[in-house]
Amino acid sequence: MDERELQFLREITDLKGTSGGEGAVRDYFREKYTGLADKVETDGLGSLMATLGTEGPRILAVGHMDEVGFMVRAITEDGFIKFSRCGFFFITGVMSQHFTIQTEKGEVDALCAIGPEGTRDEKFPDMDSLVMDIGCTSKEEARELGVQVGDFIVPKGNFAQLGKDKNYLVNKAWDNRIGCAVSYRVMEELKKSGHPNVFIGGGSVQEEVGTRGAKTLGYLSQAEIGFSVDVGIADDMPAGRKEGIALGKGPELCFMDSSTISNRKLLRFAVEVAEECGIPYQTSIMKHGGTDAGEFQWTRSGMPVLLINVPSRYAHTPTSMICYEDYINTVKLLTEMVRRLDRAKVDEILRF
Ligand code: ZN
Repeated sequence: MDERELQFLREITDLKGTSGGEGAVRDYFREKYTGLADKVETDGLGSLMATLGTEGPRILAVGHMDEVGFMVRAITEDGFIKFSRCGFFFITGVMSQHFTIQTEKGEVDALCAIGPEGTRDEKFPDMDSLVMDIGCTSKEEARELGVQVGDFIVPKGNFAQLGKDKNYLVNKAWDNRIGCAVSYRVMEELKKSGHPNVFIGGGSVQEEVGTRGAKTLGYLSQAEIGFSVDVGIADDMPAGRKEGIALGKGPELCFMDSSTISNRKLLRFAVEVAEECGIPYQTSIMKHGGTDAGEFQWTRSGMPVLLINVPSRYAHTPTSMICYEDYINTVKLLTEMVRRLDRAKVDEILRF
């Protein structure tokens, strides 16, 4: 594993960026793209768009910058914090975890508290009944620390490398900083090798609250082909369904999720390229959840889309996991595909 790459992955997953609060992620990638891309811009909702090249079909491949988190809903008289979800954070990933509240006065450490007797294994509490403990005894004290209704609450980063090869990477926010990372690295590779198209990378906002940023980013991009790079749901652990999606077996080419049916020609093309280049891949159907691909597909008069996922375990918790090689292979596959998407190939895919 490349130490520089690991450092990059750690940095981007440690960044705090709940839906609607992606500023730190946007700033980080805007700086990275400046000098690499020919043009870097943002839209009116906050998505980031970086464009490389000026001639040929426009190809969009982005991840979403936001991660699941919370927002302060109320402060109790005794100084505890009630909160609402920004995105579908699993309750099993919230209890007894460390969080950061991003206030105007700075960051405040918080712990998701459960009742004095704990919680019985067989019964999870309602998310609405949970509170954050910030070590205050009154509403006034909490306000003195800067906590206000509307502040974002983000899980603490806890990067770790597991396994004999240390290639199982754990942190919050792999969903979906890894998609943003893939988009960025693909642009780097294309700049080195050349490409017969206009490549559009970057990241959308507010995916976790209903793929909102993809609506405007798709429109701004004027792309003819769209890739949504996200995380997939591996089921290769004891409690999993064991239907075949595993860490370490390559990027997932997703036929369908609840918002999209991937373009069949584009998916077949991905399989051909993967086989020609000896890149491992998996095919899947996502049973739950939609992605940005669902918005890109009906941009303007319609866009063939493909959802490419980096397999992950435990997404939407602070301890999600990916395999390093899956990330590298996703970059490889997407780079090789974009290199081959010239006018003729894109026209062939667009022909129905
Ligand atoms: Zn995602």
